[in-house]
Amino acid sequence: MNTRKGILFVISGPSGVGKGTVRNAVLSKLDDVQMSISATTRPPRNGEVDGVDYFFTTPGRFQQMIAAGELLEWALVYGNLYGTPCEFVSSMLRKGKDVLLEIDIQGALQVKKKMPEGIFIFIAPPSVEELSKRLCGRGNDSAESIQLRLSACQEEMDHIEYYDYVVVNDRIENAVEKVRSIIIAERCRRKNLNLG
Ligand code: ADP
Ligand code: 5GP
Repeated sequence: MNTRKGILFVISGPSGVGKGTVRNAVLSKLDDVQMSISATTRPPRNGEVDGVDYFFTTPGRFQQMIAAGELLEWALVYGNLYGTPCEFVSSMLRKGKDVLLEIDIQGALQVKKKMPEGIFIFIAPPSVEELSKRLCGRGNDSAESIQLRLSACQEEMDHIEYYDYVVVNDRIENAVEKVRSIIIAERCRRKNLNLG
């Protein structure tokens, strides 16, 4: 029997900080966390699968989703549109399942307005130099795109005050353990338990 309400966890932070890496490791170590799959107009990268990594969609279809109110939040991130389909999130939370969103800071602020009871986790880099190394090492982005992501970093860091938790992704094992612990602790909060 499910004795808890579902909790919404939102992870964000600068591009290249390791959000995806941390999220995947946390999901592999914790049961019963549902990952929301975002819609995006960005073309798939090598190896990415539609419906698994993202719902890859056209700008026209994305605009329809906005108009129909199908997105919990959406934002233009580094030149592409990204958004969270609301139906999945609300149905999981209703069923008492915890949901994890990995979205950018503009999106996280929109979610915070609509669902202030969510738990907001900011993943921070140990330094800008290390962030730059990770973005270059990932090998996904052009030099121009890396520059765009690095120059957005300071402004993104200025929004840390809206988050409940800050986890510095220094060693990956440490960061994963901290995020896992946050989820476990939030699940034990009295207000999240149906104690009758
Ligand atoms: P994001 O999802 O935030 O854009 P990624 O998860 O894609 O970032 O990570 C960016 C790059 O940094 C990847 O190549 C990843 O393997 C690497 N990385 C992630 N966490 C760490 C860490 N703690 N130490 C060193 N490299 C890391
Ligand atoms: P990428 O293209 O590298 O997969 O993601 C680029 C950025 O878009 C990352 O910062 C990621 O967190 C963000 N992102 C992914 N999905 C969503 C979403 O549904 N909404 C918002 N606002 N940002 C997203």
